[in-house]
Formats: sequence, structure tokens, C-alpha cells
Amino acid sequence: GAPTHPDHVLTVTGAGLVGSLLALYLARRGHAVDIYERRPDPRRAGADAGRSINLALSDRGWRALEGVGIAEAVREVAIPMHGRVMHDVHGQLSYQPYGLPGQSIYSVSRAGLNRRLLELAEAQPGVRVFFGQQCLDVNLRQRELHLRDIETGREQHVAFRRLFGTDGAFSAVRSAMQKTDRFDYSQRYLEYGYKELTIAPTPEGGWALEKNALHIWPRGRYMMIALPNLDGSFTCTLFFPFEGEESFAALKTPADVTAFFQRVFPDVLPLMPELTDDFFHNPTSSLVTVKCFPWSFDDDVVLLGDAAHAITPFYGQGMNAGFEDCRVLNELMERHGENWELVFREFQQLRKPNADAIADLAVYNFVEMRDRVADPRFLLQKKIEGKISTQFPGQWTSLYSQVTFSPDVPYADAWTNGQRQDAIMARLMQHIDSEADYDTPEVQELVAQELARAN
Ligand code: FAD
Repeated sequence: GAPTHPDHVLTVTGAGLVGSLLALYLARRGHAVDIYERRPDPRRAGADAGRSINLALSDRGWRALEGVGIAEAVREVAIPMHGRVMHDVHGQLSYQPYGLPGQSIYSVSRAGLNRRLLELAEAQPGVRVFFGQQCLDVNLRQRELHLRDIETGREQHVAFRRLFGTDGAFSAVRSAMQKTDRFDYSQRYLEYGYKELTIAPTPEGGWALEKNALHIWPRGRYMMIALPNLDGSFTCTLFFPFEGEESFAALKTPADVTAFFQRVFPDVLPLMPELTDDFFHNPTSSLVTVKCFPWSFDDDVVLLGDAAHAITPFYGQGMNAGFEDCRVLNELMERHGENWELVFREFQQLRKPNADAIADLAVYNFVEMRDRVADPRFLLQKKIEGKISTQFPGQWTSLYSQVTFSPDVPYADAWTNGQRQDAIMARLMQHIDSEADYDTPEVQELVAQELARAN
């Protein structure tokens, strides 16, 4: 066995987005933290030379960053996106704001954010990060990690007293928990994969499309999106079936890819000089939803972030949900001190219904983004919803706003409210053919009745 581990040291596996923020929270509470991360140190030369990949950060994430006082620093390198710009097959644009004036989601560099969080965590007294250490397995009963050095291949066993599994969607800590009695687990892949592509900056170093927006090319069965980077480029993500007539499998040659983009994304093709290189060099990745329960093992081990709940990316909430995990866990530690059993139990009871809700919301939003945002009736409905929320402040908050801009509303409540709103809108839209119809006495009366019933 491994030497006993000092009781006061907390162990974290995985220094991704959630693990590094969690370490920062734990260290700020005065704990010593040892982190084991599979990847090499990202600050080492060459480690960062990869593609720029970005993520949408929204209010739940911001709130968790505020909890450790680093929101302002992150905001300096984040690009606000005020709404969606939809591109049709003829290059015609339509725009839909995300929320009220002043409300935005933010494009941030994944690598940059991760590095910043790690640096801040490591700067705390008592925090140690061991890079290049892959967790192969966990002996839950003996409280021992089985690690492998990715450079030397050397394996070692390290004891822990309390373990926080933040090692992502394919968590080794969760794998060990799966072998315990009555552990529920499900894993589901979409029939879609994704590929990251790039829109180049203009020759002057600016943005070739509207900078402060998330761009969508909705095409019914599939879609492409693009988020801005600080250097003037955009990172595009093509969400596309693996198999079928229009699919990754069907695009076999550079000529196939160019012809396909010419046909369905003609306005961006000239902005993507590296398209065919990117297409054949960048991986085609899969999209998985993982649900499991419980998230803790006795008062010894707990899962957070994608390790506990991996979701599809269509609501832009995976990281935000993982950051919210850290904030909630911190609040429970504040309330219950070192009563870890209670902290872990309440944590999973609070978070599990919300993680399930955002997983389902994300799949729902895929249909909205790839298909419904191209439908004029749907866009009209969104305009009408906007009118309702302006006319009745505080009485109608769109589902998107509840998920994205309302960190006090748990995901599960947002989902329930959203389903109720969908039913209301289905009734109202039967009486509405244009924006002007909203002001007719008939519709005004119906809206008032619906709101009175709902509130
Ligand atoms: P990860 O980021 O996966 O980090 C896990 C860490 O653990 C990694 O550093 C890994 O190297 C390490 N690790 C893994 N296995 C081991 C092991 N065995 N031993 C040691 N270390 C290990 N979320 C948003 O909020 N907004 C978005 O816009 C958004 N867009 C997305 C787009 C795509 C295409 C995808 C796939 C996801 C997107 N997400 C988004 C989700 C987001 O990426 C995840 O929810 C987030 O990265 C989860 O963080 P994590 O730290 O839990 O896991």
C-alpha cells in the first residue's frame, strides 16, 4: 500500500476547467490541495500551439468566478455576444438578441481560461499540481489512487483522504464508482459528430463577421456555429451526422468539402482559406450525454463537472454547470464545515435534478438552433415573447434567459417554466400572424388571461 496521506490534504483528479476552479475554492477555504492531471503542464513550450477553441461563458459561470474574485480578470479577455446572427443559404442575415439590452454571453478561450485558473490555484499556499499523471484506477475502500506517469510510464499508488473527481466525461474516478453496488449509469451518444474549423481574420486583423454575436448557419438536420476570438478569427463548429447522404462519411475529398460548403454555406466559404486542410486534419469528435448517481462514495469521494454530468454543448452550459457545482459545494462547506458526509449528500441532492434538466435542455436546444431558428413563425414567436416580457416586466422571462442570465433559477425550474411557456405560446400564436397582431384587443386580452393564470 501507499503511505498514509495527511488527513487535511484534499486530492483532486483532473485540472480542467472545473478541477482548477474547485482547487481555487478549496484553497481559499484554507485547505491544502494536491491535483493530479493527465496532460503535461500547459505552460511548457509547445503545449499551447494548438488551435484556438472557445466557449460561451454566461451568468452561472460568472457568478462562480466572482466567488473567488476573478470575474473581472476574465472579463478583460472575453468577447460579449449580444445575440444570434442566423445565416441562410443565400447569405441573408437575421438577428435575435439573447436577452434584454445589456445582457450577453461571452466568448472565452478554453485554453486561456484553464491556464488562468490553474495559475491562480497554484499561487495559493498549499496547492500542488502534478502534471502528466494519469489516474488509471481508484481503490475506493483503501482510498488509493493508481497513477501512471505519461512520460516515463512509471506507475505508483498514492493514498488520499478525500477525493474530488473532476476528470471529465470519461472520468476514471466515476469508473471506479460504477463498480459499487446500486450505482446508476447511462451513456448516450448522438448520431451527430462535430468538427472545429476556422474563419480567418481580415487582412487588417479585424473580424470578417459581426464580432459581438454568435453566428449560426441553421440547416434543418445539421448546423454550423461560430464564436469570435480575440485575434480576429472565429472558431466554427460544424455539427453534422456521422452517416447518411449529408454526413461526415459522405465528404471524402477536398473537392467534396468545397462543393458542399459552396452549396450550403456559400457566404463563409471565401472566409475559410484553410477549410479543406482543417477539415481533414482536425478530428471528428462525438457528442455524449452521461448521467449517473450517486455522485459521492461515503464521505470520501465526490464527482463534479463533466465527471458527474457530461452534456451536449447546445445550450453552452457544460462548463457553466460545472462552475455552478463549485459554487454550490462551497456554499455547503460554508454551512456545514467539515461535516463532509452532509456536504456531499446535500450537494448531490441539490445538483442531480439540475444536471438532468440541463442535459435535456441541451438536446432540446439543438433542435431549436439547427432547425427552428430558420423558421419565420418561430422568429415571430420569439418577437412576441419579447413584447410580453417588455410589457409585463418580471412576469415573463424567456427560457433562454432563465437558463443563461438567471443564476438564481435552478436549471430544473427553468425547464419546468419553459415547458409551461411553450404551451402558452402555442395557444397565443393561433391568434397571431404578424407582430402588429400583438396589439389587437383580442390578443392583449388573451395575454392578460394567460399571465393571470400562470402567476
Ligand atoms: P474537462 O474540461 O474535460 O477536464 C477534465 C480534466 O481532467 C482534463 O484536464 C483532463 O486532461 C483531465 N483528466 C481526464 N482523465 C484523467 C485521468 N484519468 N487522470 C488524470 N486527469 C485526467 N460549456 C459551456 O459552458 N459553454 C460552451 O460554449 C461549451 N461549448 C462546448 C463545445 C463543445 C464542442 C464541447 C465538447 C463542450 C462544450 N462545453 C461548453 C462543455 C465544456 O467543455 C465542459 O462542460 C467542461 O470542459 C467540463 O469541465 P471539466 O473540468 O469537468 O472537464
